[in-house]
Amino acid sequence: MFAVPLHVVQHPVVHDALATLRDSSTPPETFRRIAVRISLLLAAEATRDVPSEPISVQTPLAVAAGRRVRSGVVVVPVLRAGLGMLDAVLELLPAARVGHIGLQRDEMTAVASQYYSKLPADLRDSYVLMIDPMLATGGSAVAALDLLRVAGATDIRMICIVAAPEGIALVERHHPNVHIYTPVVDQGLNSHKFIVPGLGDFGDRLYGTA
Ligand code: URA
Repeated sequence: MFAVPLHVVQHPVVHDALATLRDSSTPPETFRRIAVRISLLLAAEATRDVPSEPISVQTPLAVAAGRRVRSGVVVVPVLRAGLGMLDAVLELLPAARVGHIGLQRDEMTAVASQYYSKLPADLRDSYVLMIDPMLATGGSAVAALDLLRVAGATDIRMICIVAAPEGIALVERHHPNVHIYTPVVDQGLNSHKFIVPGLGDFGDRLYGTA
């Protein structure tokens, strides 16, 4: 259906968490906790190929062979909703550098405009994970990916929690090599550019600002 590398994560624990996030009666404190849980599971899936190197480690009994994740991982949350996923990703990749991209969606037109960008220097050799929970029109995703490309990033994965076909298609058109990790591709967008059935406004659900 899509030419872009799309990874639909099927794990039952991911889908259990997604059902809680979708439920309109889930309060912000639970929403935040479950957002961390699902992000951790999705990040584990998305980082199967993160560069690592062999090491040896002394156990209390003997020397064991092991692996360490290499430095060079960069995590980029798209503000503000992406911040709800950041702690989970850093739990997995504590040495990662963190960039921030602030994009605001016009309530009427749903067009994204940039209000903030601070990225680590030289992304050329970095393994970049962009985190943005709702891939809706794809406008913010493409704008954020454009910034990452201009900053030199070539190896980029995007993790979201709900994706719409329209957003995937737009990313595919502009950034066909970016791998997208999501548990679900929903029906589509409504007239206000919200994902249906979706889960509502992720940032508002996370921060209780609805
Ligand atoms: N952003 C959200 O938070 N939810 C949507 O459904 C679409 C964009």
